[in-house]
Amino acid sequence: MTDCLFCRIVAREVPATVVAEDELALAFRDIDPQAPTHVLVVPKVHAPDLAALAEIDPAALAAVGRMVAAVAAQEGAESYRTVFNTGAGAGQTVWHAHAHVLAGRSMQWPPG
Ligand code: C5P
Repeated sequence: MTDCLFCRIVAREVPATVVAEDELALAFRDIDPQAPTHVLVVPKVHAPDLAALAEIDPAALAAVGRMVAAVAAQEGAESYRTVFNTGAGAGQTVWHAHAHVLAGRSMQWPPG
């Protein structure tokens, strides 16, 4: 989708600091980091959120899950938080499924 920001990052039309890539997924540093490590892992296929991705392309969802773990290991994170915001009320601002991988500081529970 040409009007989707993360599709444009996947297509290398918008710059991003890429930290991992495979056939189905891409990981890049969040432009506004909320922790010392803050990486977004996105499927290359367009899906608006996690549940839609599970329906549209389960293999891509699995690739995202594997890449979350690979990025955490690459960043040297023993503990990390994975967040999928779904819906504006939960803080979703980009309508292309993405996992936030946050690490490098203590995390609070429940999240705000
Ligand atoms: O969960 P949410 O949809 O709010 O996450 C979108 C994320 O995309 C934000 O954390 C924002 O900082 C990030 N972003 C980015 N690069 C851009 C635009 C947004 O990393 N060019």
